[in-house]
Amino acid sequence: MDEHPIHDIFVIGGGINGCGIARDAVGRGYTVFLSEMNDLASGTSSGSTKLIHGGLRYLEHYEFRLVRESLMEREVLWRNAPHIIWPMRFVLPYAEGLRPAWLIRLGLFLYDHIGGRKELPATKTLDMTADPAGKPLKKLFKKAFEYSDCWVNDARMVVLNARDAADRGATIRTRAKVVGARRDGEHWIVSVENLRDRRVEEVKARLIVNAAGPWVDHVLSAAVGQNDVHNVRLVQGSHIVIRKKFDDPRAYFFQNRDSRIIFAIPYEEDFTLIGTTDRDYQDDPKSVAISDAEIDYLCDAASEYFSQPVKRDDIVWTYSAVRPLYDDGASKAQEATRDYVLKAEHPEGSAPIVNIFGGKITTYRRLSEAMLEKIEDLLGKKGKPWTANAALPGGDFPAKGFDAEVKKLKNIYPFLDFAHARRLTRLYGTRAKTILGLAKSSADLGRNFGADLYEAEIRYLAENEWAVTAEDVLWRRTKRGLRLSKEQAAELDKFMRGLANMHTAAAE
Ligand SMILES: Cc1cc2nc3c(=O)[nH]c(=O)nc-3n(C[C@H](O)[C@H](O)[C@H](O)COP(=O)(O)OP(=O)(O)OC[C@H]3O[C@@H](n4cnc5c(N)ncnc54)[C@H](O)[C@@H]3O)c2cc1C
Repeated sequence: MDEHPIHDIFVIGGGINGCGIARDAVGRGYTVFLSEMNDLASGTSSGSTKLIHGGLRYLEHYEFRLVRESLMEREVLWRNAPHIIWPMRFVLPYAEGLRPAWLIRLGLFLYDHIGGRKELPATKTLDMTADPAGKPLKKLFKKAFEYSDCWVNDARMVVLNARDAADRGATIRTRAKVVGARRDGEHWIVSVENLRDRRVEEVKARLIVNAAGPWVDHVLSAAVGQNDVHNVRLVQGSHIVIRKKFDDPRAYFFQNRDSRIIFAIPYEEDFTLIGTTDRDYQDDPKSVAISDAEIDYLCDAASEYFSQPVKRDDIVWTYSAVRPLYDDGASKAQEATRDYVLKAEHPEGSAPIVNIFGGKITTYRRLSEAMLEKIEDLLGKKGKPWTANAALPGGDFPAKGFDAEVKKLKNIYPFLDFAHARRLTRLYGTRAKTILGLAKSSADLGRNFGADLYEAEIRYLAENEWAVTAEDVLWRRTKRGLRLSKEQAAELDKFMRGLANMHTAAAE
């Protein structure tokens, strides 16, 4: 076999777009190499509000194409990944002096009807004086609208796309940074630095997909060597996580006086997720962090609605990310388009690069299909679109069959308590059985690092899901970081270092 094969496609970036494209492309018969400089989903794709949604607010900016495509994706994605995606109802209280009730109703009518909704329930009006959704809110909210969208575990959706791409033959490298890319006639020579040992490898490919998210312009200037690059507008968004403020499974959609909106969403069983903010960002996306002003903004905005105010002391975790929005010249950050733009550069007789600007978690599968159309034009056609009806790893059970799946797992492994079985099914779906193997008791799962996070799960994550550090495990593959103490996290960190050293030694 050729030691240095020429891959059809080199994907820069292991966020949702890079991994989605890698999966679609390899499934159609292209050879694919994907390189991610840090961990999968360590960029924007683990820092979202985690909604598979049309984006009710985007209707106000006349983004009908985007809203329609996104609404249509909700049921497609839910069907293909019912472990990590599920329907959620949103309660939008009518607030006097803000958007009139008729306008909200009209928006929701469109929302219900332009996106091919079949399984998700329609909008209804709530009497907040009688409905339990009114209970945690101030008494001045008497009326609300309740509508449907879906929730997604964003970081896991990325890793499952990468897993499926690898299962189908793609090469996925993490901690592998693209530091240079030069054209050599009809192909690219891409320099990839292994950030663990600093070795640089050269990989040949016929086409580059630049899916570097907030770094897309940086890749063009620093690695590809282009001058004067300015395609994306970086917009920071932050979230706070507090101990739960309400028991209802529904989420809230709150309008703010500045005409922005925030969500308050049931999160990880015992918490409430509140976000997001929207502000222009100029620094390195890697160092993005919530500011004091953003914390105040989110606490104040939520406290306008909840009868018990949200205070700084309630916050148990925060996260921030940067939206790589296509720069359409909008005056305010919140008005910049959320739609995606794919731009190919293909000088006569030389290898092409296709850049991605913008996009949402919700539209990644459709974006991937649009990218594959461009790739087909540039490299020649291979297989047909296939991802609309293909389960992601572990998602091969009926969309409404989650509870039955938990029961099945408990029947096979009666020693699991219900919460543990549920958590494993949520994260791994039918693949939970691969983690549990022949275990007959918790002791067979190895060391317990706290909060039902056992060695068996961690080894699975290291061997199958590219987890290298404690942070990969605690904040992306799982959210056990919310529950482990500092000491427990330090123990896990030690264990992960041991595993990583073992893998490095085995590879040498
Ligand atoms: C606050 C916030 C809330 C959001 N909420 C939602 C939501 O609820 N629903 C929704 O649909 N969308 C939402 N989005 C949008 C969505 O999260 C993003 O559009 C999406 O995650 C972008 O994915 P990506 O793959 O393009 O970028 P990223 O996830 O950032 O991936 C790019 C990757 O490229 C890697 N990379 C960069 N340079 C190099 C290099 N030189 N070599 C190798 N790798 C490199 C980075 O490390 C990174 O992992 C939200 C975004 C934000 C910020």
